[in-house]
Amino acid sequence: MSTDTVNTAKGAIETADLGVTLMHEHVFIMTTEIMENYPESWGDGTRREADAIERLNELKSRGVDTIVDLTVVGLGRYIPRIARIAAATELNIVVATGLYTYHDVPMYFHYRGPGTPLGGPEPMTEMFVRDIEHGIATGPDQEASIKAAILKCATDEPGVTPGVERVLRAVAAAHRQTGVPISTHTHAETKRGLEQQAIFAEEGVDLTRVVIGHCGDTTDIGYLEELIAGGSYLGMDRFGVDAFLGFEDRVNTVATMCERGHADKMVLSHDASCYFDALPEETLPIALPNWHYLHIHNDVIPALTQRGVTDEQLTTMLVDNPRTIFSKQGGY
Ligand SMILES: [Zn+2]
Repeated sequence: MSTDTVNTAKGAIETADLGVTLMHEHVFIMTTEIMENYPESWGDGTRREADAIERLNELKSRGVDTIVDLTVVGLGRYIPRIARIAAATELNIVVATGLYTYHDVPMYFHYRGPGTPLGGPEPMTEMFVRDIEHGIATGPDQEASIKAAILKCATDEPGVTPGVERVLRAVAAAHRQTGVPISTHTHAETKRGLEQQAIFAEEGVDLTRVVIGHCGDTTDIGYLEELIAGGSYLGMDRFGVDAFLGFEDRVNTVATMCERGHADKMVLSHDASCYFDALPEETLPIALPNWHYLHIHNDVIPALTQRGVTDEQLTTMLVDNPRTIFSKQGGY
């Protein structure tokens, strides 16, 4: 047995202890600047944190050991809050670095970095590497102690815009330096995952170290097998987002992919959160009643079993693949 470790919000743990892992979740997603100036939607932060702790404890009690919180800059990452929550739950929370945009880079990067008026090296790469190797700042006076263990970037319907391309290449460079895995957001309908693979390959990234996210939003087996042929893992990671693709289609696609021998290339998750400021909180449970952390254990696993997915294949997707993804370590 190897003794690889992976960093979490409570420090390093052995990859063997990751256990049942949901590879693409969030705790809170928000536009921080909006929240700070128009705080009424977020409300009482103490209550929000208590609610998150309760939900994560419930998830742990149902047999999930780890979530990967892919909340990065652009989605309101704030590590002091995650640190307090992690301290109050037995569930492991892996935190991420990277940048989430479908279009442009944030104004902060507009004048600096390659191709900008001031030029110079890519500041994003330096920031991502610092989060991974040194730790994420928890305040102006506080020691950075929580280290990111995964990189995140996004390509949505607008495709590889100049801003998105810059982020993808910065993420690839930080990955090459640190060796931590990459996990992406995609728009499956437009096959954005293939474009991501092409850019990563240009940057010399070993595509087996990449999870192409939101692959569960499509039933296009050809597209999914093309991504696997490139070497990457598939994030079947939006169970509960039934407005994009219904429950039956999501479950049937995973079952079909298992049947075709791809259990060793898929990970399962919800992309759920305790708070997401871009959607109306009151109507969300009515519009997407299954979009919560327990949907996989309550509904998806029984449905997969019914469609012939074996316990062994479930363990491969929920335990072995996450561990393998975090076990491949070291820059190159
Ligand atoms: Zn997400």
